[in-house]
Amino acid sequence: MDWQNVLASRMGGMKASEIRELLKLLDRPDVISFAGGIPDPALFPADTFREAMARALCGPGAAKALQYSVSEGYRPLRDWICTQMAALRVPCDADNILITSGSQQALDYLGKLMLDPGDTALVGWPTYLGALGAFRAYEPRFDRLSPTGNRPAADIRAAAEEAGGAVKFAYLSVDFANPTGETLTLAQRNAMLDLAEELDIAIIEDAAYQVLRYDGEAIPPILALEIARKGSIEDCRTLYCGSFSKSLSPGLRVGWVCAAKPVIQRLVLMKQAADLHSPTLNQIATHLVAKEHFTDHVATLRRTYRARRDAMLGALARHMPDGVRWTRPEGGMFVWLTLPKGLDGADLLVRSLETEQVAFVPGGAFFADGSNANSLRLSFSCATEDLIDEGMKRLSRVIRAT
Ligand code: PMP
Repeated sequence: MDWQNVLASRMGGMKASEIRELLKLLDRPDVISFAGGIPDPALFPADTFREAMARALCGPGAAKALQYSVSEGYRPLRDWICTQMAALRVPCDADNILITSGSQQALDYLGKLMLDPGDTALVGWPTYLGALGAFRAYEPRFDRLSPTGNRPAADIRAAAEEAGGAVKFAYLSVDFANPTGETLTLAQRNAMLDLAEELDIAIIEDAAYQVLRYDGEAIPPILALEIARKGSIEDCRTLYCGSFSKSLSPGLRVGWVCAAKPVIQRLVLMKQAADLHSPTLNQIATHLVAKEHFTDHVATLRRTYRARRDAMLGALARHMPDGVRWTRPEGGMFVWLTLPKGLDGADLLVRSLETEQVAFVPGGAFFADGSNANSLRLSFSCATEDLIDEGMKRLSRVIRAT
């Protein structure tokens, strides 16, 4: 069968990333990898989850844990999330929360909710690869969002109209972004909100790494700033996407959207059409573990990842040649490296794997237009401090030899 004859046009924009294909080869034990960007499995609260799952499956509760459940998500978990959101200055109730299968599913639903082919999605340059992938299925045009100084709203709108669509949303990762590790200042968050108001568009606030802060003052989410302006979440254009992937377990696939009720109600319809609900047992176990252990567990994660972040920043300062620049994240899992002009992150990865067995993600993949290839993303979450030093030493040798 010639599948081309039956494929939808949207499949044209959905290609397997060469980088992801290359990264599949990284399971070799001799490779020191800074590519992953995933939690360190040694830190998973496995015993606590084992106990929680056993409790969920004991007695009459077992029927509930194994049964279909409501699309909105497990009510006690939504209530627990409300207490966390309130601590972030986002007062809301359970009807403002939809549980999704990871925040990745939320990004897909929000793309589906708002994008017609040819519409414009404003994204960072660079931005999270998985967000670009989720939105691409809805055939948008991407335009550049720059928190350090945007083009006038009228220019952004005119460019979108010329391309035959409308600007629908700005997608932002405000704390310790993937891939740059950078955090938006309070002024930048307010400026983003001003821009969204002027353009009359939604804001997708991706908070996947929000709890992983290692130093500096926490800054309120954009949703909190908007509630302070408007008085109630019901009047807000910000759609907050949270996740337990980086705090408890990515494998259980539990995330959430927090937003005004009319949006949540529409997303519930999507959830019903897509997968009915996220796994009941995973939601119950996540609730049990979160309510009893969240604070302590996150404190352990912060301590461990902070030491690795410090090790990476120290090793970069010791080993990198002149002309290489990098970010200094206050949290999360990533440092973003800018190479001297003319160097290409993808070429460097091939050489690095051949000669020094060090892996990272080339930066070009994170730009909607593939530009800025002279960059790369390093993740410090899964490497020990010794390996980080050795890895940076090797990486600097590859860069010097280029
Ligand atoms: N947003 C960002 C910025 C991410 O880095 C990731 C995962 N790496 C996600 C969303 C999706 O995570 P999950 O679906 O596991 O919540």
